[in-house]
Amino acid sequence: MRRPLLCLAFAAAALTLRAEDSAIAVKASRLLDVKTGAYVSNPVVVVRGDHIESVGKSVPPGATVIDLGDRVLLPGLIDAHTHILLQGDATTPEYHEQILQEYPAHRVARAVRALKIALEHGFTGMRDLETEGASYGDVALRDAVNEGVIPGPRLRVAGPALSTTGSYPITHFRPDWNFPIGVQVCDGADPCRKAVREQIAYGTDWVKIYANTGGLRLTDDGYVDSPPNWTKEEIEAVVSEAHAHRIKVSAHARSDSGVRIAIAAGVDSIEHGDSIRPEAAAEMARKGIFLSPTLTVAAYVAGRRAAAGCAVCGELPKIHAKSLANCRKAGVKIAFGTDAGGFPWTEINQAREFEYEVRLGMSPIEAIRSATTVAAELLGWQGKAGVIEKDAFADLVAVPGDPLKDVSVLSKIDWVMKAGQVVRPLPR
Ligand SMILES: [Zn+2]
Repeated sequence: MRRPLLCLAFAAAALTLRAEDSAIAVKASRLLDVKTGAYVSNPVVVVRGDHIESVGKSVPPGATVIDLGDRVLLPGLIDAHTHILLQGDATTPEYHEQILQEYPAHRVARAVRALKIALEHGFTGMRDLETEGASYGDVALRDAVNEGVIPGPRLRVAGPALSTTGSYPITHFRPDWNFPIGVQVCDGADPCRKAVREQIAYGTDWVKIYANTGGLRLTDDGYVDSPPNWTKEEIEAVVSEAHAHRIKVSAHARSDSGVRIAIAAGVDSIEHGDSIRPEAAAEMARKGIFLSPTLTVAAYVAGRRAAAGCAVCGELPKIHAKSLANCRKAGVKIAFGTDAGGFPWTEINQAREFEYEVRLGMSPIEAIRSATTVAAELLGWQGKAGVIEKDAFADLVAVPGDPLKDVSVLSKIDWVMKAGQVVRPLPR
């Protein structure tokens, strides 16, 4: 958000206050250095204001001490794929109810709850990838968090996703009535450039497109395909316009054609990636395109959608597992993403994703890096988030147990600091 009338005297006063902030010394039995994968014993992390001043072994004179006992200290976690304005949409009726019946204020109220839940579970950063018919509510919520009006993670937001005519719900309702739609529609290169410009003008940080949506079918060789929503030229127009504004593009892509066209057009991340052949994975690695696999939502919706009549949904988990393996083998960067909101925020802790990642072959430290250093790189926070080091954001979490032995303990985070403020105190 821009504040062209920000008073210089006020800014100077704020800086003075910052310099006078007293230090907080955070102690724990161990600190996980996510870069090396090694534990550091008896660390003291000195926090001043909203950043980390030093990481060492001694408490500076006059510092307020927070002793976390035998817990392990980690950087705050980052979920690179969420929907704060959605509360579970495994089936079409669930989606229709939220889009057609819920008042915007109701959706915002539930989003405020989602932000609090995420933060208390240790997610101090999130990329929220589209509002599903809730306009630019995510931009407003991001700004409210930044102003300290409501608690929540640091947010990168996309506003409404972009898709093409007829490719995204709500479709096939009475043509003589107007219904809301879960995306912003654009067709053709120039109209899509205009749509990107418009979104950026409303304050978004990312662009999201739906590279493919309906019509998934199994291929003869065990992947899935569907008609793509876009031509390569249309996505190239979106990407070039966004990149000209230093904004990145994520592509929901679950089928061969969707993945292939999105990669060719130069998007920055592939979301879900159910069907990624070895050749596509190699191209992603070569171009530095991240994969956010969203295994938690995949597990949540597979059975429900199969029961609702989706023919390929029961097969998708094993195809998805194969695609993730292809990406890891090729060296694609895997960014932690859950698609929270695709499942209810109140039912599943986002940290469940760590367990799915490990179940599909990632080592515990690889899984932890996906939600720290790798996700931070994707979101442009490298060196600031996802690490515990001098000058990084003072975003810290603590957990009882050993996450390198059992990543499921990351669902039991019981102390959280964001920007130097304790947002979840230790249990009594
Ligand atoms: Zn999503």
